[in-house]
Amino acid sequence: MCYAIPGKILKIEGKLATIDYFGENRTAAALDIIPKHGEYVYAQGGVIVKIVPEKQALESLKEWENVFQELKKIDEQTAKTDETKFTREIRQAIHKANNSIPLSEQEIIGLLKTEDSKLETLLKAANAARQKQQGNACCVHAIIEFSNNCKNNCAYCGIRRENTQIKRYRMSVEEIIARADYAVNKLGFKALALQSGEDEYYDEEKLVEIVKGIKAKCGALIMLSIGEASIETYEKLFQAGAHAALLRFETSNKKMYEQMHCTSFENRIKCLKELKRIGFLVATGALIGLPGQTNEDIARDIALARELEPDVHSFGPFIPHGQTPLASERKPSLQQALKIIAAIRLSTPNAKILVTTALETLASNAREKALASGASSLMLDATPEKYKQLYELYPGKTTAHAKIEEEVIKTIKLLKTIGRAPTDLG
Ligand code: SAH
Repeated sequence: MCYAIPGKILKIEGKLATIDYFGENRTAAALDIIPKHGEYVYAQGGVIVKIVPEKQALESLKEWENVFQELKKIDEQTAKTDETKFTREIRQAIHKANNSIPLSEQEIIGLLKTEDSKLETLLKAANAARQKQQGNACCVHAIIEFSNNCKNNCAYCGIRRENTQIKRYRMSVEEIIARADYAVNKLGFKALALQSGEDEYYDEEKLVEIVKGIKAKCGALIMLSIGEASIETYEKLFQAGAHAALLRFETSNKKMYEQMHCTSFENRIKCLKELKRIGFLVATGALIGLPGQTNEDIARDIALARELEPDVHSFGPFIPHGQTPLASERKPSLQQALKIIAAIRLSTPNAKILVTTALETLASNAREKALASGASSLMLDATPEKYKQLYELYPGKTTAHAKIEEEVIKTIKLLKTIGRAPTDLG
C-alpha cells in the first residue's frame, strides 16, 4: 500500500539483492527488475517490484525514519511474554524452533490440544516467535476477484458450478488492468493477487495479456490465484511477469480431498511442486474446520505445508455457504482458527502467515487478533464494488460493502497501532 518503505541496494548477487532499511538488512529477489548497487527500491513478498527515484526515496525515508523506530518499539513491547506460564508443549516447541528442529506431527497435535484456559498463552508465545523471527515486517496484498465463473464443483465453495442462484460476472481484460492500475498507482499496493474461479473464458492468451498489461503499468508483485491451470500456461504467465501463485491444497487428507473435489489430490500437489520449480513464490495452505476434520488432519496439514516450503502460508476457516452440499455444517470458532495460526507459527517459525479474508468474518476484531497470534500478512479486497458482493465463496464477507479506500486507511491505522512496518522482504 502507500504503506511502503524504500530500501537501498547494498549488494546484488545473481538474483539475490541485499537491501538496507535503516541499518537492518533484508534480502529480496531481483527477477525482472535488476537495480544497481546504491539504488532505492520497493520490494514486496520477497521480490523487488520497483526502482524508486533517489529524490523521492530520500523524501520518503525522512518521513519514515522516526516512525520506523517507534513501530519497532511498539511491536517489541506487545510481543513480550511471561514464559513462566508456558505449557510443556509450548516450551518444547520454542526449544525446537530455536534449534531448527522440526516439530513432529504428535507435537503439533499437542499444541492443537491446548486447553481454553491456556489459549492466550499459546497465542502470545506465537506472537513472540513471530517477532523474534521476522521483527515487525508485514506485507499487505490487494486482491482483485475478476470472475466468479467456475468449471469445478468443490463441495464447500459458493461459486461452484452447480450453484444456479448466483449471478455470474466476468471482468474484461481492460477492466482488470484498469483496476490493477488503480490499486497500485493510486492506492499504493505493491502486491496484487488476481483471483477467479477456474474459468476457461480466460485462456492462456487472455491471461498473458492481463499480466503483461498490468506489468506495463504497475510496479507490483503479481500473484495468480486461478486454480490448476496447465504447467505450460503457468510457465508462460511467469515469463509474462507474474511471479507468485496462490493455490491451497485445501486438506492433506486425500480421502476428504477427493470427496469434496472433482480433481485429484496428487494433481494438486504436483501442480504446487511445479509452480515452485518454475520459480513462482508459492502461497498455500488448507481450510480449517472442514466437516469431519480432526486434530490429526490439521497437524498433517501444517506438516504438509511445511514440507512444501511455501513462501506464504494461507490457512483460512471453512464458512458454510447456503447453496452448497455443506450448507448445514458448522464453521469453526475464532479461537480454533487462532489456535491453528499459532500452531503454524510455532512449528514453522520463519513462515509468512496470511490473515485470510474468510478469517475476518469470524469476529470484528479477527484481523487484529490473528496478527497478534503469529500471523504476519494481510489481504485487502480491491475488487470493484459492483462485483465484490457477487464473489461469494462464503457468506458474510466483511468487506462486501466496504470501500477499498477506507479499508486502506483503517489498515494503516491498525498496523501503526500494533507496530508493524512494511518491510516484508524474505
Ligand atoms: N479457483 C481458485 C481460487 C478461488 S477459490 C482455486 O481453486 O485456487 C479460493 C479459496 O477460497 C479456495 O482455495 C478455498 O480454500 C477458499 N474457499 C472456497 N469456499 C470457501 C468457503 N465456503 N469458506 C472458506 N473458504 C472457502
